[in-house]
Amino acid sequence: MHIVVCIKQVPETRDVAMDPEKGVLRRAEVAGKLNPFDLYALEAAVRIKEKLSGRVTAITMGPPQAEEVIRESFLMGADRGVLLSDPAFAGADTLATAFTLARGIGRLDSPDLIICGVQTTDGDTGQVGPGVAEFLGLPHVSYVRAIRKATREGLVMEQDLGDQVAVVSLPYPCLITVDKGIGQPRLPSFRRFLETKDYPVITWGYKELSGGDEVYFGLEGSPTQVERIFPPKVEREHVVFTDGDLARQLYQKLLELKFVG
Ligand SMILES: Cc1cc2nc3c(=O)[nH]c(=O)nc-3n(C[C@H](O)[C@H](O)[C@H](O)COP(=O)(O)OP(=O)(O)OC[C@H]3O[C@@H](n4cnc5c(N)ncnc54)[C@H](O)[C@@H]3O)c2cc1C
Repeated sequence: MHIVVCIKQVPETRDVAMDPEKGVLRRAEVAGKLNPFDLYALEAAVRIKEKLSGRVTAITMGPPQAEEVIRESFLMGADRGVLLSDPAFAGADTLATAFTLARGIGRLDSPDLIICGVQTTDGDTGQVGPGVAEFLGLPHVSYVRAIRKATREGLVMEQDLGDQVAVVSLPYPCLITVDKGIGQPRLPSFRRFLETKDYPVITWGYKELSGGDEVYFGLEGSPTQVERIFPPKVEREHVVFTDGDLARQLYQKLLELKFVG
């Protein structure tokens, strides 16, 4: 079994600087962490590997420091890591991200299963997983909340449809996006750190991924144009009561705001 897990480095803070000209986030300037949903994708992959044997490859597209999340994936059980990084990939929208990841996955020895998180905590679109599957021509199931059965032929899964749950079976090769119900991600161990500290991270850039039809790389290849990007204005009213019957004044204010009454 060869399982590929797509993982993304997301900003650790909500306080991310923006480039008002290009309409993009300045991701390289902030500390990053592994997208929390991708921990579940990794956990699902490692559990299947433990049951059926095989190997797990973690892949990410991002700036050079995104290598950190690949190293973190080793601690959870990934055997190999691939970083897709090139100035030409910067500013990608979801289509360009999915295209670039599909190109990278296409260079790996044919995966049986690709697992993505259901969404990220920054872009939050949930579009990349299905986009990768479409570029690779693979069947896919999103919002998987549990894997009931994993065999060498395929998966039987529970798909969360909001107010209903569908039981879906899918043969390999296929792509799934997984939610938090999949099982608690394991903690990284020191033993695993010692085992994996010298693992290499394969880095591929534009040269390795371009094939003459690179319409969807980076900002240039992103059909979505961000017209304006700005932090939302936070408006808070401060009222200070200093004199008189403070409790009554506070009660009046709460009545006025319809918190009581
Ligand atoms: C309308 C719009 C315009 C945008 N324009 C820009 C822009 O101009 N510049 C810019 O920098 N960003 C832009 N973005 C953000 C950019 O599209 C996202 O950072 C990126 O495409 C991933 O999308 P997402 O975070 O919504 O991932 P989701 O689709 O929510 O992620 C789902 C899963 O896909 C996988 N995944 C997602 N991204 C990666 C990755 N990079 N590497 C590996 N796996 C991944 C993970 O498994 C993740 O859990 C834009 C987003 C939108 C919605």
